[in-house]
Amino acid sequence: ANKQNVVDDDTPMMQQYQGIKKEYPDAILFFRMGDFYEMFNEDAKEASKILDIALTSRNKNKPNAIPMCGIPHHSSTLYINRLVKGGKTIAICEQVEDPKQAKGLVRREVVRVITPGTVLDDTLLDPKSHHFLVSLYFSKDHTGLAALDMSTGLFKVTELPSQAPDLLRDELSKLDPKEVLIPESAMNGNGAQPASLEDTGYFMQSLEDWTFHHTQAHRILTEQFKTKTLEGFGCEDRHAAVCAAGALIQYLKDTQKSALQHITTLSTFSTQDCMLLDRSTVNSLELVQSSDGQRKHSLLGLLDATCTPLGARRVREWILKPLIRLEPIQQRLDLVGHYKEHLLERNDIREQLKHIFDLERLLGKISMATCGPRDLIALKSSLQVLPSIQEMIARCPLPAMQRIRESWDNLESIHQLIDERIEDDPPLNIKDGNLIKPGCDEELDRLKAIMKDSNQAIANLEAREKERTGIPQLKVGYNKIYGYYIEVTKKNLDRIPDDFIRKQSLVNTERFISPELKQYETEITGAEEKVQAIELKLFQQIRQDIAAEGMRIQVMAERIGELDTLIGFAQIAHQHNYCRPEMNDADTLRLQNGRHPLVERIDPNQPFIPNDTLLDCDGNQVAIITGPNMAGKSTYLRQVALSVLMAQVGCFIPAEEATIGLVDRIFSRVGAQDHLQKGQSTFMVEMIETANILNNATRQSLIILDEIGRGTSTFDGISIAWAIVEFLQGPERIGAKTLFATHYHELTELETLFPSVKNYNVQIKEWNDEIIFLRKIIPGGADKSYGIHVARLAGLPDPVLRRANEVLFNLENSEYDEVGTPKLAQPHAPAAGPQQLGLFGETPPPLLQKLRQLEIDDLTPRQALEKLYELRDLL
Ligand code: ADP
Repeated sequence: ANKQNVVDDDTPMMQQYQGIKKEYPDAILFFRMGDFYEMFNEDAKEASKILDIALTSRNKNKPNAIPMCGIPHHSSTLYINRLVKGGKTIAICEQVEDPKQAKGLVRREVVRVITPGTVLDDTLLDPKSHHFLVSLYFSKDHTGLAALDMSTGLFKVTELPSQAPDLLRDELSKLDPKEVLIPESAMNGNGAQPASLEDTGYFMQSLEDWTFHHTQAHRILTEQFKTKTLEGFGCEDRHAAVCAAGALIQYLKDTQKSALQHITTLSTFSTQDCMLLDRSTVNSLELVQSSDGQRKHSLLGLLDATCTPLGARRVREWILKPLIRLEPIQQRLDLVGHYKEHLLERNDIREQLKHIFDLERLLGKISMATCGPRDLIALKSSLQVLPSIQEMIARCPLPAMQRIRESWDNLESIHQLIDERIEDDPPLNIKDGNLIKPGCDEELDRLKAIMKDSNQAIANLEAREKERTGIPQLKVGYNKIYGYYIEVTKKNLDRIPDDFIRKQSLVNTERFISPELKQYETEITGAEEKVQAIELKLFQQIRQDIAAEGMRIQVMAERIGELDTLIGFAQIAHQHNYCRPEMNDADTLRLQNGRHPLVERIDPNQPFIPNDTLLDCDGNQVAIITGPNMAGKSTYLRQVALSVLMAQVGCFIPAEEATIGLVDRIFSRVGAQDHLQKGQSTFMVEMIETANILNNATRQSLIILDEIGRGTSTFDGISIAWAIVEFLQGPERIGAKTLFATHYHELTELETLFPSVKNYNVQIKEWNDEIIFLRKIIPGGADKSYGIHVARLAGLPDPVLRRANEVLFNLENSEYDEVGTPKLAQPHAPAAGPQQLGLFGETPPPLLQKLRQLEIDDLTPRQALEKLYELRDLL
């Protein structure tokens, strides 16, 4: 037996509880009893702890006591949110018949299961990103991936090769799912195992394998979309994708138990329609969050000047999926260009956009029947501005606008429906009444009139009774429990007439009811109940009518999101003085006076030094950039990668002029990354990421490599870096445009060996034994290592710096061969120059010799200590 269900109390109600709980063993069951949701047994223990509420018990002090806790129904959202955040799922069990009318036990049913991936409450949703529930199916060759944002209805599928766990991880990290569904057998490690999901920290939910069966999945999808096949969605033949998507819908049906009306379409996306960006590139370029985990300081934070959540979510999507075809990029750039020039038009549209609420999420609530009257008013006021936006975009004559213009829909019928029916300033809850405007329903109007008349009649009655009884303080009142009453102070009790019937005694007053008042009361309460029922019915009808038009709303939400994003880009381009890149299919990448979009914004008092870039597939395929630490190498590398990425997103870029040949992928391997995987050294991670680049880059790719080989010993590092450049360069090899930053200036030798390699360095000025970073990238290799100067900048004590200079001097003038020239695997390997301090370690030769002669194994700890002193004295 399930431990959770041990209930000794076998009253009919607890039996009912047990029966329901059995079906939801993994969820916390909220069992509705009157105005409370009660939890029992383990559920109660767990929830009381998370919610910090009192744990009591049913049948207290008896042998069959049952742990229990409860929360008031009206504030349940708060508690539900806390539990969901704690990674719990919650089954909401309601009384599904009126207790007054129930014969015996009230019927109860679970009406919804709330899970981390299916929440709809605004407080749990980030307006600026999607809230995805993901489902995965693992077949022999493919991994099917379906992702749904229930709050908006966005539903998409794709297939990934099953041999590519990295691709799956990359895709998942872009989606950032709140819940992941997988087949039970996969969860248990049978079949194609989802090794790539280990340690991801996603909330995983396993479903019975049958939900993923193709026939079942296909059927449930075609039922949902009311189609015969899935061809129209582009996934009829994608078995694994269909299995994943079908199981997802099945899961929603089981948990939501409501019409999923806003899920009207499914899009099949291919990882080939857009630039693939792997996780390390997304992270190292700080595309959606900076290394400190914030959105604000990322490229997304910079480029998001949108006015609506619809736009904000789009910017994120676009940045993570740059385009790889010329035409759509040009279209975006055209519109950005137009609105960059036309400041007034831009501002006008932005003003209007600010009035638009989150249409996608509103529609989600409407379809899932969780919307209140005020949501409809939000929808109405959003729709209100559509006609003026339509007029405004009509002023843009570009063909690129045509697509948006042609599919524009002001959704007048929906606006009209709400405007005619729903009160302009309705209450928060449907039950509070007064949400339907007069003129919608005759019966409703009649009943409301009765209520109004009765209220007037009661006022008249009060006046009459005052006169009849001669008690001026007599008054008619109302309270929820006792209804209407006539109140008289105790000292006037002798004056009350015979037809008053005593109702309630208070300290100083007595309350009565009269037959006439009783009649009005009956009339009013009868009418009130009917009014509530009719209003509710009408409201549901309106809701359904709007939900039925969901597709139109979705299309417009998309258009607005797009427009908002592009106008935001125009705003940014104008503000930060970006230029329109000239895009083409050729191989050349030329940036004139390019800047780093984020670094240039950090400190307005420190002018950013712009730099040029020229890369192509011939003589300028690989640029090796040398220079001391802190010179600005990484900044330069990233600014080039970011500019290309921004251009292919359809945004203007931080440069004076640019020509960019489309790239198919951008790879970035920058510095020692902080996202160390478990059990792997920095160097291992670095090599894994580099391997990924070498295995996947093509001639059309752009690669930036920063300090490759740093994680290992100097000779290893140089050798590996050397071999990598060799592997990348030249038309017979990968041939990808590459920027390679290194402080191993030995690598500058490569230029003399390979025609496609060019040297650059970051210009430095020496002045009074100090160096000044000029931050200018100039042709030629750096000829000196400036490590000691940087050490000075960092504040190393003077004696250390002085000594380091001496050692450097000695080294530069000694027979360094004694310590060993690097034996590079290369036949053409250059002799290592003496300038690089790192090559020799930081220890002078005499010391080294002493150290070499030591028989360490023969030393006692005491002797070792003495040796250490001795060695130090040599310094
Ligand atoms: P490196 O990779 O050579 O060690 P970084 O690229 O990290 O150097 O640059 C060090 C610092 O110099 C950056 O934090 C930035 O503030 C500044 N910097 C880099 N490039 C420029 C530039 N072109 N103009 C102004 N400041 C820059």
